[in-house]
Amino acid sequence: METRLRHRLSQAFEYSLSGAACSTDGWESRVYAYSLSFPGQFGSSALYNKAVLLQAAVSVHISPNAVLRGKYSWYSMQGEESLGTGYEETPGSSRNAWGFSLTGTWNRVRKGEEMRPSWDQYFLKLAMLASERATCPRMHCGCVLVRHKHVLATGYNGSLPGLPHCDDIGCLIVNDHCIRTNHAEMNAITQAAKNGVSIAGATAM
Ligand SMILES: [Zn+2]
Repeated sequence: METRLRHRLSQAFEYSLSGAACSTDGWESRVYAYSLSFPGQFGSSALYNKAVLLQAAVSVHISPNAVLRGKYSWYSMQGEESLGTGYEETPGSSRNAWGFSLTGTWNRVRKGEEMRPSWDQYFLKLAMLASERATCPRMHCGCVLVRHKHVLATGYNGSLPGLPHCDDIGCLIVNDHCIRTNHAEMNAITQAAKNGVSIAGATAM
């Protein structure tokens, strides 16, 4: 049985308490506890024994990228072992362990950059989003026409307006191509024309 308690007192400080107790009865009942990792992990693998582990730890978050931890653990074991011909008593033992650790991560991404896509990433994501509207199961494709960081038009592969979609009545295959749908780029150009938007000098993403 293992119990853990972790409490964060503030953004920077937290403490942890844990305890594990086990009673083994034969090889099939081997128990390992790795409570709170360093130090003092223990395993109980004797044939017949009892073991108790108590641990306390404090963590200080020095910065968003660094944590300083200190920990104390106490471990006690007692029991009997068998070498095959019978039970052989072993004396109980206990030990203390303590340690400190400093863990850190080096983050090269500048603040905010992680969340914010570049212009190219942004337009490609828009194209991917448009592709989700595609209606031909053979391929889902999206297109965004861009000029000077502005979106001029979007499109995805699908049937002409008013005509049934591949999703509804199946593809129309000629020479191993589905001709029921228009390409995403063509639909984007059509949308621009329909709205009277010039696409001179635009980039198709
Ligand atoms: Zn199709």
